Amino acid sequence: MDLSLPPAVRSWKHRARDFAEEQLFPREVELELNGKLPPTTLEEMRKAVVAHGLNGINHAVEVCGQGCNQLEQTVISEELGKATGALWAVVAHPAVALKHGSPAQIETYLKPSCLTLRRACVAVTEPDAGSDARMIKTRADRRGDRFVINGEKWFVTSGDIADYLIVQVNVDGDPEKPTLFLVDKSTPGVCVRREPKFTHTYVFGHPEFIFEDVEVPEEAVLGSIGAGLDLTKDWFVEARLQIAANCLGAAIRAFELANAWAGERKQFGRRLRDFQAIEFMLADMAVEIMTSKSLIYRVASEIDAGLDRKRAHARASVLKLQASEMAGRVLDKATQIFGGRGYMRENPVERLNRDVRVDRIWEGTSEIQRVIIGGQIDRRGTAVFTDW
Ligand SMILES: Cc1cc2nc3c(=O)[nH]c(=O)nc-3n(C[C@H](O)[C@H](O)[C@H](O)COP(=O)(O)OP(=O)(O)OC[C@H]3O[C@@H](n4cnc5c(N)ncnc54)[C@H](O)[C@@H]3O)c2cc1C
Repeated sequence: MDLSLPPAVRSWKHRARDFAEEQLFPREVELELNGKLPPTTLEEMRKAVVAHGLNGINHAVEVCGQGCNQLEQTVISEELGKATGALWAVVAHPAVALKHGSPAQIETYLKPSCLTLRRACVAVTEPDAGSDARMIKTRADRRGDRFVINGEKWFVTSGDIADYLIVQVNVDGDPEKPTLFLVDKSTPGVCVRREPKFTHTYVFGHPEFIFEDVEVPEEAVLGSIGAGLDLTKDWFVEARLQIAANCLGAAIRAFELANAWAGERKQFGRRLRDFQAIEFMLADMAVEIMTSKSLIYRVASEIDAGLDRKRAHARASVLKLQASEMAGRVLDKATQIFGGRGYMRENPVERLNRDVRVDRIWEGTSEIQRVIIGGQIDRRGTAVFTDW
């Protein structure tokens, strides 16, 4: 069994590392101190994404993407995940659901998004619909050949900079017809109600949106009426793998920094690492990271080899749960090794510690991942997780 990374995968990894070192790390402190980056800087970074060939990595070359396979996307997300302030979000992954767009939608939305000329945000969550997305109340009512959307969406990541939204609604208010709509942000009736502050410093915002009598044509339906949940399932697989890889990168950076500090810092006349309490923390971090990395690379490779959709969905939950919880444990230890310095915002470890907390919440909480895994064991048996 050859477990070495193919040259193309290594090359993508190096490209992403170069991009992170050149474009992301130098902007971390400015972002942390000011809470945002100036539009001119964001524009420079957008152009740099294209110059480094990191635009549209999750889409085919024919639609202006890079055509990266899952393992290539994974190593890119690992490298970018080392940056604080979620600066990895500068490298947008146009929603996978857009692949199911009509030829016109591919021209109008997917291709320009892959070229970084347009940007989407995904609006599913509502005040009464979080983990249980079936509880959404936002509805699209048919009026002749048009639809009228009314409702409210929360936590819409990158909603501040996106120019269009992928909105999940129930057509005619019918929960049996969950449907995705492509809605330009400039459409009358779409408005940002407020932009709350969150634990992490995130390069973009997570605003709340109100939709008031928003009129869209039939052509705004993505996929088909009633296909909303099915389309978001593919998105969850992709997003959960990306989160797992981001978490891996964050844990590796913290581990490297903590290891260096433990060798440099002296107390009681000895290096920190000479205290077994500290050495054991480093050893545990190494075990956690190696376990996680092996699992993530394995599942990404399995997907590239044609893993069926249901297994991919089941395994993506394992990855997301394991890696996000692993990152929390590793970041906590790294903070402890730095002592008071680990609590200072100028320390990347402190920032990463805040950054990774949300990875146990978004794209399905840890509890929901366990619900999915438990359900798979019940329906399909233990082999889904134990076979090779
Ligand atoms: C920073 C941030 C960005 C986000 N970005 C987006 C975005 O771009 N688009 C979008 O649509 N949404 C987004 N979300 C929303 C996110 O997906 C939800 O917050 C998440 O799914 C949880 O929903 P909730 O917050 O309503 O919590 P709830 O569903 O109310 O859950 C609260 C608690 O109950 C637990 N719980 C719920 N159901 C069960 C169960 N069956 N079994 C056991 N425990 C359960 C949960 O695990 C959690 O611990 C974002 C959230 C955050 C914080």
